[in-house]
Amino acid sequence: MPNCNKRSYLTENLALDALIEARIRFLQNSSVTVYQCEDCGQWHLTSRGNVHPRLAKELESGNVAKSRLAYQWEKKLRY
Ligand SMILES: [Zn+2]
Repeated sequence: MPNCNKRSYLTENLALDALIEARIRFLQNSSVTVYQCEDCGQWHLTSRGNVHPRLAKELESGNVAKSRLAYQWEKKLRY
């Protein structure tokens, strides 16, 4: 199995966790969903396609914004 340059995840769920985490940690992150790669068989994040329902829910509920704020504070306090 070839190794992709992109960060890969073993399962869809792990990729979804990473997708949401990425949106919290990186303001510029534009990933909207995940897909199973034909080359490596693992899951990658992508900014193409429709927003994944789970991410949409996190965004709508304000969870992403809340966690982002918490993350910013955590970073400030740590350094
Ligand atoms: Zn791949």
